[in-house]
Amino acid sequence: MPERMLKFVRLGQEMPEKRPAAMRRADFGEIYADFDPPKAAAQASRCSQCGVPFCSVHCPLSNNIPDWLKLTAEGRLEEAYELSSATNNFPEICGRICPQDRLCEGNCVIEKGFEAVTIGAVERFITDTAFEKGWVRPIVPRQERAQSVGIIGAGPAGLAAAEQLRRLGYQVTVYDRYDRVGGLLIYGIPNFKLDKAIVARRAEMLEASGIEFQLNCEIGRDVAMADLRARHAAVLIATGVYQARDIAAPGVGLDGIVPALDYLTASNRTGLGETTETAKALHARGKRVVVIGGGDTAMDCVRTAVRQGAVSVQCLYRRDKANMPGSMREVKNAEEEGVEFVWLAAPEAFTGDAALSGVRAVRMHLGLPDATGRQAVEPLADGHFALEADLAIKALGFDPEDLPAAFAEPDLAVTRWNTLAVDRRSFMTSLPGVFAAGDIVRGASLVVWAIRDGRDAAAQMHSYIQQNQAAMPAAAE
Ligand code: FAD
Ligand code: SF4
Ligand code: SF4
Repeated sequence: MPERMLKFVRLGQEMPEKRPAAMRRADFGEIYADFDPPKAAAQASRCSQCGVPFCSVHCPLSNNIPDWLKLTAEGRLEEAYELSSATNNFPEICGRICPQDRLCEGNCVIEKGFEAVTIGAVERFITDTAFEKGWVRPIVPRQERAQSVGIIGAGPAGLAAAEQLRRLGYQVTVYDRYDRVGGLLIYGIPNFKLDKAIVARRAEMLEASGIEFQLNCEIGRDVAMADLRARHAAVLIATGVYQARDIAAPGVGLDGIVPALDYLTASNRTGLGETTETAKALHARGKRVVVIGGGDTAMDCVRTAVRQGAVSVQCLYRRDKANMPGSMREVKNAEEEGVEFVWLAAPEAFTGDAALSGVRAVRMHLGLPDATGRQAVEPLADGHFALEADLAIKALGFDPEDLPAAFAEPDLAVTRWNTLAVDRRSFMTSLPGVFAAGDIVRGASLVVWAIRDGRDAAAQMHSYIQQNQAAMPAAAE
């Protein structure tokens, strides 16, 4: 074992410097600074180089974590980058926004007693350094192939698949209805978690690799799915899930009650320099804001409202803190930034004349576990209370759109949750040559799983094309 490693016994865990909450509240900048090289090396050296690395087992990409930590500790950063990018298309993004406390770091063995190795922060450091030093270069495939593939959706699943297929030499076109590349990385996730420049830098690299992007192009509206299938040797559907779940409560139609993604998209567009009338109407400045929900989307909303200058920000969640689906790290950040959590509370009605002025809510308590082991929530008979509010944001999760209808492909099979049904091994949908990956298959999930699915689907598309190539259309010259 090299002397450089196993330092966890003497050296404590240190994250990169986190900006003070008062400063964070005033802008949308990322909250963590970069590691400096000596600190990154020191933190990487805390790893005990486990024979069976549980960090890797619990990373959806099975990243080679102990090996790139060791290379970082030894200052061999270019090799660390080569290794980390071999299993992850966007390590600088995962390093920033994976819920590491539930994945790699939450399963680091030294966490019991010594606090985990700061895996995500080191991963981010390695790739940011690689970009700075010019080690991240556009792909030059070993051989160009005549066949083309069409990818619907420029989110992390579609982009990971696009990169993998381009590496294999295919002519890749990515279609997206948005005007920018990145999917939820651009229009969902706020800047303070993931700066848009980081996503744009990646998009430029993919474009320089020869991947063609057709933006402002909605499949099913601007181009028929049938045309796309005729145009390409294989098609990947990576369209994500966007239909917001609603609340059935009196007054839910009042002005000032908005779905979370509308609110976040407006804020992200403002951050990108596009201030529209919708964005102005959805701005939280001077308002009393109530966010309903307990997941990562709710955390992004409360923290955005704080930064926009809301008078107060409250988060209503029907379970308690221990049962929140959102990352505990994000809850802590929100609390530091002045968000008030109202645990065990659910909305009953929205009040106001034309516009919202308040939320009536009821206290809940946790009952007996159901068949899944999760405790049921029940309202307390005498637990009614009211909150004043000018803006209520509904962050209750997302469902898929009706894709067979949107694509005019009635034979496209879906599950009972309306996600696309795919063969688990081949990633192929019920339509021959049409594959699917990411949230549209899993339901709302994580970026790291979208990357994993995009990679796996790309490998299957390659096998499919190779097996069926005689019957396939070649890319137009
Ligand atoms: P998406 O990222 O949704 O991309 C789908 C793309 O398909 C979009 O660009 C869309 O415009 C395009 N599209 C859809 N239909 C069509 C069509 N008909 N024609 C053309 N294009 C189409 N995950 C994390 O790991 N960490 C986080 O911190 C985190 N925070 C989140 C915060 C919010 C507010 C939200 C909503 C999600 C968050 N997630 C987070 C989840 C993560 O963003 C998603 O799991 C991930 O982006 C899914 O990737 P995807 O490629 O499947 O879909
Ligand atoms: Fe951890 Fe995510 Fe990186 Fe995997 S990809 S090592 S889970 S931060
Ligand atoms: Fe290192 Fe922790 Fe992974 Fe073990 S589990 S290899 S200590 S990062």
